[in-house]
Amino acid sequence: MTQWASKLSQPQMDALWMPYTANRQFKASPKMITGAQGNYLIDDNGRKIFDGLSGLWTCGAGHNRPEIAEAVAKQLTTLDYAPAFQYGHNLAFELADRLANMAPADINKVFFTNSGSEAADTSTKIARAYWRQQGQPTKTRIIGRAKGYHGASWGGISFGGIGANRKMWGPAMESDHLSHTLLPNNQFCKGAPNYGEELADELIEMVALHDASNIAAVIVEPMSGSAGVIVPPKAYLRRLRELCNQHDILLIFDEVITGFGRTGSLFGADAFDVVPDMINVAKQITNGAVPMGAVLAREFIYDTVVNAGGADYNIELPHGYTYSGHPVACAAAMAALDILEQENLVSRVAELSPYFEEAVHSLKGMPFVSDIRNFGFAAGFSIESYPGEPARRPYEIADAMWKKGFYVRYGGDTIQLGLPFTTEKTEIDTLINAMQDTLMGK
Ligand code: PMP
Repeated sequence: MTQWASKLSQPQMDALWMPYTANRQFKASPKMITGAQGNYLIDDNGRKIFDGLSGLWTCGAGHNRPEIAEAVAKQLTTLDYAPAFQYGHNLAFELADRLANMAPADINKVFFTNSGSEAADTSTKIARAYWRQQGQPTKTRIIGRAKGYHGASWGGISFGGIGANRKMWGPAMESDHLSHTLLPNNQFCKGAPNYGEELADELIEMVALHDASNIAAVIVEPMSGSAGVIVPPKAYLRRLRELCNQHDILLIFDEVITGFGRTGSLFGADAFDVVPDMINVAKQITNGAVPMGAVLAREFIYDTVVNAGGADYNIELPHGYTYSGHPVACAAAMAALDILEQENLVSRVAELSPYFEEAVHSLKGMPFVSDIRNFGFAAGFSIESYPGEPARRPYEIADAMWKKGFYVRYGGDTIQLGLPFTTEKTEIDTLINAMQDTLMGK
């Protein structure tokens, strides 16, 4: 009898269709999480498992924070829900103002969503609305990047660049993709790599091909996460910014992973010193406790879409979600941002990331490790695959790590680490030692 059978019935196990999961494989050997505390998950045998990806890059401040629980509980007995359309509640405005103060430059307008996927759709719809209001309705094309991840919606899979997530569905939105920046010259580079900034110039070719009058926006993760932590080459994002300026194309940073501290700065935009026109966030905004996302936009975009949006009684942007700015999500976000600030977690990541960098790069030369990349509290390892089975060895490594008491993420041919911001040096050491043993087959 398998272990889960004592807790779940066969129909229960069969009923759930799990997202982004090999369902048959999972159900043959389930990994069940029954609790969490701080930097640890707890499995159904009561084992403490170090959370090496902070959930799914969500729980940087550690799990089960009482401050968030209290804020959520209080909100649920004060105002559990307010209609998101045509009526407001204070907390959404207060949180928007707080985010506006945190975001760089004049990125001061906040549109709430419930997820990163919705933020991807929302920001690209705003981009199109912006150009339409500017009298340029043909500027609709969205340019993404190979290996980019922007969520699972039709928009996200269109300008996203992970082949496995696209090829099942047939045509989505037409879009183009810049090349990814995972270059052989940069293998085992620590932090931002030296080569590849010129890849941003591919945008010039896309302008030549489609004409800028047909291009609305470029959307990139400043640092790709899901494809295995791909750090932008030095000056790459600056060059992309310059080209977008030259050709009147909006630049959107998908900061669903890099937002709120992961890089050792509040935003990837700060870490790489480039101001985009919109920033998409989710995940860490509530420390993962309640679903929430947002698009943070520069003043001129709001001015154009809203302030020049026709008669006063018209809805300027016919877009939104029932749960946009949900009071409970806002309360969780406020508490999560308090924790980030009060515990100086962002500077903690910056201070400890050189230690983490040395630790992850100590795995260079280990079996199967063909590349290591890192920035802030994120790292990605490329793993040599079994012939024709790119996902198998990363799965085996993650599985062996789980058995040793460490959760790491595997995706494509990579293993990813995204430490909780509250990680201690000793925890980094034990994690890396366990990885070393695993790679050595111990
Ligand atoms: N963008 C990025 C950069 C992400 O990493 C993710 C989630 N991994 C998303 C968008 C999608 O977010 P969600 O799963 O909340 O829709």
